[in-house]
Amino acid sequence: MKKTLLFLTVTCFLAAPAFSQIKFSDETKKYIEYNQPVTVFKNVLLIDGKGNAAKPHQTVIISHGKIDWVGDDAKAVTPQGANIIDLNGKTLMPGLVMLHEHMYISAPDISTRYLHLKQLPFSFPRLYLAAGATTIRTCGSVEPYSDIRIKKDIDLGVLPGPNMELTAPYIEGKSTRFPQMKENKTPAEAAAFVNHWADQGFTSFKAYMGVDQPTLKAAIDAAHKRQLKITGHLDMVTYKEAAALGMDNLEHGFMASSDFAAGKKENEPPAAGSSYKALSELDINSDSVKQFIRFLIDKKMSITSSLAVFEGNTTTQPQPNQEALQAMSPDTRDFYLQRLAAIKSAKGPTVYDKAFTNTSKMEKMFYDMGGLLSVGTDPTGNGGTLAGYGNWRAIELLVEADGFTALEAIKIATMNGSIALGFDKSIGTIEAGKAADLLIIDGDPSKNISDLRKVQYVFKNGIGYNSKKLFESVKGKVGFN
Ligand SMILES: [Zn+2]
Repeated sequence: MKKTLLFLTVTCFLAAPAFSQIKFSDETKKYIEYNQPVTVFKNVLLIDGKGNAAKPHQTVIISHGKIDWVGDDAKAVTPQGANIIDLNGKTLMPGLVMLHEHMYISAPDISTRYLHLKQLPFSFPRLYLAAGATTIRTCGSVEPYSDIRIKKDIDLGVLPGPNMELTAPYIEGKSTRFPQMKENKTPAEAAAFVNHWADQGFTSFKAYMGVDQPTLKAAIDAAHKRQLKITGHLDMVTYKEAAALGMDNLEHGFMASSDFAAGKKENEPPAAGSSYKALSELDINSDSVKQFIRFLIDKKMSITSSLAVFEGNTTTQPQPNQEALQAMSPDTRDFYLQRLAAIKSAKGPTVYDKAFTNTSKMEKMFYDMGGLLSVGTDPTGNGGTLAGYGNWRAIELLVEADGFTALEAIKIATMNGSIALGFDKSIGTIEAGKAADLLIIDGDPSKNISDLRKVQYVFKNGIGYNSKKLFESVKGKVGFN
């Protein structure tokens, strides 16, 4: 790709606000390929993020970090001195808005007493940005001050990384297996917990498996009082109960639903394995399942699909991605490959495999019935779901497992994410007035969703980063750093 750099125009626009005020560190500059105030992308195959068919021969003009104009090449008026990028044969699409991301990975657990999670402040922000995620929600924090610092450093240009919507530390119930989570013994304690982390600057919340309905209710009310959203990975509380309590969002598609578990008692965890068993045996075309989904939609519950992390526990998963393996540090790779071998040695189809298949189809039903479906990665699980590579896999699975078209999958991963976050006025689609969060792809993901993996440049707020260089900078380090 040719780059036209007109220094004259750069000086003309130096007086501009926020866009040109960022002082990028030498480290961040290594990955910046385009940093001009005004850029014209012409001859674009445009995917707008709204689900419309890809449009050829389009021009997109960005100025000072925002999208200024979108339309036919023939009608475009090129601002004087603008940087012009001819994208013949390439696609321009919105940056990904990924809703179930973390700054940590599942760490090798040698004691087996705890489930430990390890923060990766170096590699994960880079991997997200490299893959094209321009906005992520850090759906549950285990190192809150580190998450705040990473966001601050990214915003200041010190570190390369995505825009971050900060989710507070998990709101847990009376007991937890995770040593990094606080145990909230009463509803009042949970409400105080929400207020404490909102005071520290967290702008979203996530309730976890051990909360009961009174605790969840207290947390929802505390979050909503401050106009903040709350999502959850629940277990003791069913999806229907959470919807009735007014929760905004649920994580993990339908895989975390305990609604159908046999013998489930209110405000108690379902019997071990009973939720997956019920989901594996569910007649998804039955009226009761449709009514269940309808209830969630009527209560305006949005749902985040996270199929990449779940696929990692199926016997049917494909071979590990070679590039992702090379990105891992040696101990991380060993840990992952051991667990993978154990998972793959099971005779399929397992209960889990069947639950995965059923709940994938339910995600599509939810969407088709009018529900707001978004997507995230959850880089945890068997240790092989990484930031970046996992983002792509999560979106591919919307096509492969759920049955969405590639354009629908892109819409879920861009516009729908922005709606679920409440940011749809500023990000999520390619429209005048929105942030210049754009991906240049050497292919056509509207035809083949895996072409997302051919992302070359990631524009975040109008600054273009070199994807390959970002990926290369973390090689062999993921899990260690
Ligand atoms: Zn998670």
